[in-house]
Amino acid sequence: MSATGMRTHLCGELRPAHAGGRVRLCGWVDRRREHGEHLAFVDLRDHSGVVQCVVDGSVDVRSEWVVQVEGTVRPRPEGKGNTELATGEVEIVDCVVGILAPAEAPPFPVDDRAETDESVRLRYRYVDLRRPRMQRNLRLRGRVLAAMRAAMVRQGFCEIETPLLWTPTPEGAREFAVPARLHRGEFYVLPQSPQIAKQLLMVSGFDRYFQVARCLRDEDLRADRQFEFTQLDIEMSFVTQQDVQDAVTEAVMDATEAAVGERPAVVERMTWHEAMDRFGVDKPDLRFAMELVDLGDVFAGTEVRAFGAESVKALCVAGGASLGRNRLDALVERAKQLGAKGLAWFKVSAGAEAPALDSPLDKFLTDDERAGLVGASAARPGDLVLVVADEWHTACSVLGQLRLDLGRMPVGEGERRFLWVTEFPMFEGLDDEGRPVAAHHPFTMPHPDDLDRLGTDPLRVRSQAYDLVLNGWELGSGSIRIHREDIQRRVFDALGIPPEEAEARFGFLLGAFRYGAPPHGGFAVGVDRMVAALAGEDSIREVIAFPKTQSGTDPMTGAPKALAPAALRELGLRVARAGD
Ligand code: ASP
Repeated sequence: MSATGMRTHLCGELRPAHAGGRVRLCGWVDRRREHGEHLAFVDLRDHSGVVQCVVDGSVDVRSEWVVQVEGTVRPRPEGKGNTELATGEVEIVDCVVGILAPAEAPPFPVDDRAETDESVRLRYRYVDLRRPRMQRNLRLRGRVLAAMRAAMVRQGFCEIETPLLWTPTPEGAREFAVPARLHRGEFYVLPQSPQIAKQLLMVSGFDRYFQVARCLRDEDLRADRQFEFTQLDIEMSFVTQQDVQDAVTEAVMDATEAAVGERPAVVERMTWHEAMDRFGVDKPDLRFAMELVDLGDVFAGTEVRAFGAESVKALCVAGGASLGRNRLDALVERAKQLGAKGLAWFKVSAGAEAPALDSPLDKFLTDDERAGLVGASAARPGDLVLVVADEWHTACSVLGQLRLDLGRMPVGEGERRFLWVTEFPMFEGLDDEGRPVAAHHPFTMPHPDDLDRLGTDPLRVRSQAYDLVLNGWELGSGSIRIHREDIQRRVFDALGIPPEEAEARFGFLLGAFRYGAPPHGGFAVGVDRMVAALAGEDSIREVIAFPKTQSGTDPMTGAPKALAPAALRELGLRVARAGD
């Protein structure tokens, strides 16, 4: 597969077994070193690797020139091998060098070791992508996508494309608008996801749909967020949550195996409540323990006012007793920023009979409370116990974040722990007017046992929504959808969406449902995050060919740019000055 009309082999595939053979190679000059008076070593690079060519010193080739080298493979002289190079036991001699394209000196070395500012890398992204790390990342991405597609097709899914010029959808993010030239003053909206389109396809009887879909959301960019991102988008009819999760699991396992050569043994499961209670987040990183423990019983009758709260939770930091006062003060400050009223800390030491505690609060504790705190948190001498007393959700989420701050290992380390988190709450709190705020899109089906609470106790309604998590990263989410008008009306009621508004925003979906909607549900896997996690990269920008910077620009193309006045006129647009 490597041979073409211009080359016989790839640079990286040459081994001693090729010795004596005449080969023709094409690639970029990785490095040139003069060797004595008459010879030069030219390292020739293509995507498969690098091979050393010995050329006549008079041949003028420089870094990143594109050349064709015809020569003979020869084992390197005894002791001259390079063990760091896969081709390090051979070199190419008797070379005839043809120049295919000279090149300007590269803006930075095409080398994984060179540290280059990201905006420069993005400005010359085509050069940056030549680096082995970026080649590896994008090829890994390609394997992930191919494996996902194959798994979906094998499971009977049909790939259907849905429009990019679309109308507002209910995912809740700010949307990109596109002016409609033929309908002055009107706009298309770029889809936040194919959510409504795929539900319509269920009404059409497609049963098992998938798409590798581009989604667009005009939100502030972060390491794990770009304006446009890719989802493996799935929808199925006549299914339970388990059916959807099984189909997704199969695709994700196949993709993981294709990417890293190992198929994860299991995908664990946990309800949202358990995840929050044990790990303080809805996307637990299971690579390390440090579970939150409940001290409610220990402090049930306490005199310590600060511990008289709905929930008293603790986190044991192994070896944390060595933290100095500054670090402890910083932890207290961080807990407050995260929403806690305070953070109590207890350093544990051996003590004469029982473990002793060092803490400003120690003198207020009874012996039973001391023993209970140490026992419940399984703290050993040298450990630090952090305690937050607050509402259950706050106590959990503050300690959950501290757990990550103090215990989380870098992205590429440890095992791969995939996890399904199920039974998310239907609503994530109340807005200023006391109305529940939907945690997912408003078509998410409530848990059947909780339907009666919709009007009376909405915050305790669970949904049939589920997330897939890998090592603390949310890889995607999905749900069983509401396909019955009566339930949909009750959910809109709970959300305070009047029928006219529902009709105006989602009328075309609700209308379609009146023509026979099958029970259905689906999921979307965030491909960029999944690939970044598998590649061991912190930022999804490292696994996207042409990403935007944090401020949403593309230093290579200069986008976004002003439009020419004539183009604006044609679209019927005028740009307001700042402040207008
Ligand atoms: N459309 C949803 C999202 O983009 C996923 C789903 O529910 O299928 O998060």
